[in-house]
Amino acid sequence: MLENKNPSKTNISELGEFGLIDHLTKQFKISQKTTIKGIGDDAAVLVSEAKKQIVVTTDLLVEGVHFDLSYVPLKHLGYKAVVVNLSDVYAMNATAAQITVSIAVSNRFPIEALEELYAGIATASKVYNVDVVGGDTTSSTTGLIISITAIGYAKPEDIVYRNGAKENDLLVVTGDLGAAYLGLQVLEREKEVFKVNPNSQPDLEPYTYLIERQLKPEARKDITKLLTDLEVRPTAMIDISDGLSSEILHICTQSGVGCNLYEDKIPLDPQVISACEEFNLDSTTIALSGGEDYELLFTIGTEDFPKIKANPHLTIIGHISHKKEGTHLITRANTKIPLIARGWNSLQKEE
Ligand code: ADP
Ligand code: MG
Repeated sequence: MLENKNPSKTNISELGEFGLIDHLTKQFKISQKTTIKGIGDDAAVLVSEAKKQIVVTTDLLVEGVHFDLSYVPLKHLGYKAVVVNLSDVYAMNATAAQITVSIAVSNRFPIEALEELYAGIATASKVYNVDVVGGDTTSSTTGLIISITAIGYAKPEDIVYRNGAKENDLLVVTGDLGAAYLGLQVLEREKEVFKVNPNSQPDLEPYTYLIERQLKPEARKDITKLLTDLEVRPTAMIDISDGLSSEILHICTQSGVGCNLYEDKIPLDPQVISACEEFNLDSTTIALSGGEDYELLFTIGTEDFPKIKANPHLTIIGHISHKKEGTHLITRANTKIPLIARGWNSLQKEE
């Protein structure tokens, strides 16, 4: 589909490296007051607001490892590549302001494909209000590689690390879990169906939320503001990119504490519950280990409980205990089982 066999598609070599960079990046305008110089010189120049610290994070996405272009539209890929980075900035309780975008592409990609990718990047940078201030462009002999770096700012006293959770703190999660993993299962299934029968018209209506969570995830920019408005400062925070259990364990290990997580409190969308029945998967396992949900997990002192208890975006799913009590899941049947971090890969193998 992406092979450049169509004569109406323009080969990258027609523009040359500088022409290509200019073509893709001329749409980016500077809107942040912390950006002094964006694209166009040897390096971007930024300035931090007074008394703020600078937060920097990078992600690398490799075709065939992190995404499959047979069902991921390039526009969505560009959008998602930005969002997953911004999620890490928000997980520090910081405000994101700039990104850089580096790509390695093979000549099987026509310019039109890169335009799609950059349209997604541009949309995300508008939605999240960040400037694209630089990047690098090179060729690849295999697939597409995208690396994005995000830069954010926060007052030192506002930055939330993974290591601040204290005994008796409440464990809180935003949104709901498991949908992105199930969206991937639906897309993989449709890909197989399509291989057998290219004329089949899948009915994806029952899975709209799942597919959206997989293809067009959003980062929780709203939570930084919500916490400020509620005057709640989490004691620890992390974004849920690899599944709830591994992220809870990161907080517990780094904070030197234990935890009890309650199975019946884990927030699940109705589409997650019905898709789990259909795919014969356990919804708790999916929420714990599915990954790619880009929600935030944080801990708060019990004195902050009244401020968050009625909030529809936030669910209390457990509490922090003393380190010697270990890290456990309390099941619906009220049994206590050790929490284990299982990556996405081990989940695949088990099926
Ligand atoms: P250099 O040779 O110094 O690396 P380039 O010619 O690669 O410079 O880049 C020129 C400008 O375009 C720089 O500001 C760089 O940050 C920016 N740039 C290059 N590639 C990209 C890209 N893929 N996306 C966004 N900006 C880019
Ligand atoms: Mg360069």
